[in-house]
Amino acid sequence: MAEGEVSAVPRKSLSWPSPLRGAASRDLAPGVALDIQSQPWLNPALQRPSKCPTLWVPISTVRDSIGYGYTTKEPCIVVMTLSRWLPITMLLLSSLVGSPAAWASDEPPEEPRFRWVGEVERIFPREFPDRLSGLTHWLETGPVAASPTGLRVDFAHYPSSAEVVSFVGELEGLYPDLVDTYEVGQSWQGRPIMGLRLGNEATGDPEARPALYLDGQHHAREAISQQIVLYTIWYLLSNYGSDPLVTHLLNTRTVYAVPSVNVDGNDIWLADDFLQRRTANPESSDDDLDNLLDEDPANAMGYGTYLVYRYDFDQEWADSHPDDPFAPGWQGHYLGSEYLGVFDEEGNEIPQLDEDDDGSTNEDPIGGVDANRNYGALWELGDANPASPLYRGPAVWSEPESVAVRDFVLGRPRIVTALSYHSGADLILHPWAWSGDEALPDALLYELLSRKGSQLTEGNGFLGSPHAWSARALYAAPGTTMDWLYAQGICAWTPEAYGASSIVFAERVDASGSFRVAVSVGVGFNPDPSDILQTAERWNRFTMYVLAATPHLGLTAVAADEGLLTLTVGNDGFIPVEVTVSATGAGGGVATETLPYLQAGERQVSVPYPGQPGLQSLSVRLAARSLAGTTNKEVEGQEVMLWIVVRPGPDTVWVAQGLVEEFTDLGSFFGPGGWLAPRVWDTPDVYHLGPPLVHEVFLPLSHSRS
Ligand SMILES: [Zn+2]
Repeated sequence: MAEGEVSAVPRKSLSWPSPLRGAASRDLAPGVALDIQSQPWLNPALQRPSKCPTLWVPISTVRDSIGYGYTTKEPCIVVMTLSRWLPITMLLLSSLVGSPAAWASDEPPEEPRFRWVGEVERIFPREFPDRLSGLTHWLETGPVAASPTGLRVDFAHYPSSAEVVSFVGELEGLYPDLVDTYEVGQSWQGRPIMGLRLGNEATGDPEARPALYLDGQHHAREAISQQIVLYTIWYLLSNYGSDPLVTHLLNTRTVYAVPSVNVDGNDIWLADDFLQRRTANPESSDDDLDNLLDEDPANAMGYGTYLVYRYDFDQEWADSHPDDPFAPGWQGHYLGSEYLGVFDEEGNEIPQLDEDDDGSTNEDPIGGVDANRNYGALWELGDANPASPLYRGPAVWSEPESVAVRDFVLGRPRIVTALSYHSGADLILHPWAWSGDEALPDALLYELLSRKGSQLTEGNGFLGSPHAWSARALYAAPGTTMDWLYAQGICAWTPEAYGASSIVFAERVDASGSFRVAVSVGVGFNPDPSDILQTAERWNRFTMYVLAATPHLGLTAVAADEGLLTLTVGNDGFIPVEVTVSATGAGGGVATETLPYLQAGERQVSVPYPGQPGLQSLSVRLAARSLAGTTNKEVEGQEVMLWIVVRPGPDTVWVAQGLVEEFTDLGSFFGPGGWLAPRVWDTPDVYHLGPPLVHEVFLPLSHSRS
């Protein structure tokens, strides 16, 4: 589908109760993926489906921590069906098992994997048990920031890529001095990939300032990640001039944003296939390995539709759990399942065409390449199987989507920090993604900043999101955006912003042992439209914190005494910098001093100045080199002109107005603890497998204060 043909998506909530509502516990729904080793049905030695193609997946015990954070421990084996219609448990596991390159057996299907079992009436009840709602968090009604009115993106629906293009244009019209927009690339199917620059142009050149880079939706079905980036854009623009923190940040820093990297995937996800993850690369998607490409995709199976299964349990279990067949222990009473089809929210079946007449449907969908495995960060270690959801692509940088991000970032050398938003879990992930063992130069800084993120993401009904070393909490993932950004000297995170059960509901069929079970990854990875705003607001807090942590230098005071000029320099961000102060007098004399470490505080340097009476000028250059990331680089350089009047008697210094900016303690904007969260927000040890992080040694703030 070409850009422009994308139809607007109805702005409506789903017609049944939000799966997010109804409980406020940390319980996960349906016992899915928990305590795997104790589940005999997952033990291939005990039960291996004879007809069903299986993949033998060496993973570890998948352990639930908080929300959908998982970690791995001892090895075990899990059977996974090869079908595109993964039964629900496997669907959830599929995001956890790492590289399919490790899969040892891969038998082709011998017969159609599902068969029609008859009419299913009234698929979707208006109410369903709380236990099945699978919520990670219960969002209580609470204060949230204002949402826009009259614009194409309202944070009450998931927009098409065309709507986002319109929205971005509307913002540029509303806030011409604060935002510039660019087309940073074009997708495989020709859609524009939009980029924005936010920063007050009246207070200097935004390109010269230290900057934060934001992106979302590398993975199509993680649509909330685009909404989170768009919300922060909206928040910054609409609060400029009224909110003191926002105003200060846009006056002193720059934000670059690519709300959706995978714009093709966004529209495919909305309209045709809510399972879409990868790009729409037309040449790398022989998912069923039959030498044909994309020959049997899903039909009208977009967000708002559901896969429906019949799950069979023994009669005793069904009788004792009529409202909740997935109560703990269900696996021991599970007899099997059958796929029934795709249904809309009214319970109408959406026919799926067998477009290649091979007896299966939807076995070779559109695309593509995992855009978050296509970056030049140990790409070669990635998954080379084109049928894998984690396919790295035929070559590094093969995707126009990843190239667009690369070129956009490389063209902005002042980017110091970055957040690349995803969903499907609830975690604040930091490098490395490719290794859980390789030395992490900024482990302590990451621990401090991420811990604060855990604190900030709690509230308004949410639990704080655990923070973790990516490869330790999930699995090794080479070729990722985050690792590539970090390798450019950028302090980067991958927040996993939302994860819930993909089971929408289960309903017993009469008094039998059978249940109709509706499943949607669209629901599992993305909040109900009515909760987009609250979810985005939650993550906006962390984004604001990282933006404030982005260093910014200022000359905060000047004093003169007996031929010495004392300059006070502040970095009001938490990320430390090395500062070089160079003062050049009108007569050409130069004095240079280096402050090796300046973080959220002020330091003083003294430079001599000529003592003869009269008016003298002094040019002061402040330069900051970042001290985070694997490649330190100059992230700020500014010239300040001082006019000095030297008179007999006490020295007098006059500074041209506006050149000295008062130091602001930005930490005070972030609640209890300021910049730092207390240890109660430490990540559980399960996230720190491997060499332990040293919690006792933290960078003391006092170290940086004069
Ligand atoms: Zn993702």
